[in-house]
Parts: sequence; structure tokens; C-alpha cells
Amino acid sequence: MAVQDGRRLRIMSGMRPTGRLHLGHLVGALTQWVAFSREYDAFFEIADLHALTTAYEHPEAVGPARDEMVIDWIAAGVDPAQTTIFQQSLVPQISELLVLLSMIVPVSWLQRVPTYKDQIAALGPHVATYGFFGYPLLQLCDIAVFRADTVPVGRDQVSHLEFGREVVRRFNHLYGPTLVEAQPTLSEFPEVPGIDGRKMSKSYNNAIDIADDEAATTKKVRSMITDPQKIHRGDPGRPEICPVFALHHLANAERLPEIERGCKSGALGCVPCKMELADGLNRMLRPVRDRRAEIDPASVAAVVEEGSARARGIAEATVRDVKRALKL
Ligand code: SF4
Repeated sequence: MAVQDGRRLRIMSGMRPTGRLHLGHLVGALTQWVAFSREYDAFFEIADLHALTTAYEHPEAVGPARDEMVIDWIAAGVDPAQTTIFQQSLVPQISELLVLLSMIVPVSWLQRVPTYKDQIAALGPHVATYGFFGYPLLQLCDIAVFRADTVPVGRDQVSHLEFGREVVRRFNHLYGPTLVEAQPTLSEFPEVPGIDGRKMSKSYNNAIDIADDEAATTKKVRSMITDPQKIHRGDPGRPEICPVFALHHLANAERLPEIERGCKSGALGCVPCKMELADGLNRMLRPVRDRRAEIDPASVAAVVEEGSARARGIAEATVRDVKRALKL
């Protein structure tokens, strides 16, 4: 267990509510979350305010998406009794801290965050709102309000965390030590390809969902693209460029050398290779899907309400200290 000075260290992470999660979420974030929750006092956020920064035209989608996502979290093994699952908008202290900290954050610091311009280029100019511009500061408030000791981050998010740490240092320098500078826990996991070979993503419509049934999974795997040069059984293939082979790493790791040999020599055809992958994925996902089927969707609201109440208690103490430091 991660302990310092007799205190269990706290970790904080979250996801925007986008609905049902897929295999990429499971082998990336969720497997790590389950491991973190054994070590740390873990806080997992349903980032519904963050969702509004880009989905402000469709707020009606956020509620149902929340429930599906939390069911997937629990099915993957995130235990609500051992962790704090909360909803960002049910912890108003996060928004209060956002206003307070926004007074000391130079606009130029936010302009420097590299993902801002990239995201506008990718998503369109309609996302360039005041809220979207302040997204990294809201992220910091999610972390700082719980005085999290660490945050799991991928390499592409290091600049966001560094921005947040700079804000904390500025606050503590101006008003005395009040907030905690969270340390990054680098979390790297291999990119999971979708059925079209691009990164698995809901927005590309190429995902194998946790909640898919076995027949749907098999159908999706059968439609996967493969090495375009391997047309007939007997043609030698290139497993290193084939997304089917990449997914075998997850589902059939012990069989990889044999599959690789069969593909390269041409002895293995793409159809049986895909069928073996479908069987492997269904075997791997079966326990998660079985747990999912047992979760009563009506219980999600109570889990979130209970977690949010605990989160509010901790957040309230931080905001009280921040206001005291600001002489408010
Ligand atoms: S045999 Fe398997 S790994 Fe090789 S190209 Fe076909 S699907 Fe991909």
C-alpha cells in the first residue's frame, strides 16, 4: 500500500462521460485503476463539466452516458466500496476553486498549453469557448481540491499537469503553503487498434465495446482489416502491420509466436486467425461482461451520490483553507 507519514497516498483520475467503454479503455485506464485502488486512496471522477466544454450543444446526452460508463467501471473491477466514485458537477467546490484560482493564472500560461490549438484544429472553431480555454485549470482544480498526491498521466498530458503544478506553486508562493503539487505517475500502455486499424475510439466507430455480446464481437473481428498483401491462404503475411495480430497480444499472448510463424509462412489464413482472435477476446471479456449483466443500472445513482458526498466533504476543507489564505 502507498503510504507516507502514516497516511495512505491519494490518487485522482477521471473520464468524460461518453457512454459505453471499449477494449482500449479496459486494457488501458481501467486495469490500472483497479491496481491503483489497491494501493491508494483512489478518487475517480465522472468529468461531466469537462464533457460540456465540447458537447455543450448536447447536454441531454451526458446523464445516460454517465450511467453506462460507471457500469463499465464497476464491471471492470473498480469497487465503489474501496474507492470514491464521484461526479464533478455534484462537487461544486471544484467550480468555486476554479474561480478563485483563475484570479492568479496569467492568460499566457493557458495559451502556452500545446493541446489548445491542436484541439481547435481537430474539433473545429466552435469549441473555442472560454470554458474550453480554461480546461487545464479546471483539470487542476479536480486534482487540487482533493489534495491528490499523484495523478496517472500519459506522455501527452504531462504539459497539462506541469501547468497545474505551476499554478499551485504560484498560489503557495503568494499566500503561503495551502495546496499540494501532485506528482505524475507515468502511465503508458500500448495503443489498442480498432477494427479499421486506427486507434480504437468511439468517434471512429471502430471499437469493440465491453458491453458488446459475443456474436457482435465476432462479427466485428471478422470485418477487421488485415495485411492487404495477404489475400489468399498461402500468401505470406506481415503480422507487424496487422491490427488482428496487435489484438492477439491482448487475447492470445501465449500463442503469439505460433500465430506469427503461421502468418509469415502463409500456413495460417486470415479467417481462422480472426476466429481465434474473436474466441480469445470473448474469453477475456466474459468475466467483465458477466459482472456487467449483474449490475442493476438503478444502483449507479446511489453509488455516485455516496461518492460525491464524501468528495464534497474533502473538497470543502480545501476551499475553506484557500479562502482563508486569500483573506476572504
Ligand atoms: S494471418 Fe492473422 S496476423 Fe496474418 S495478416 Fe492475416 S489476420 Fe493478420
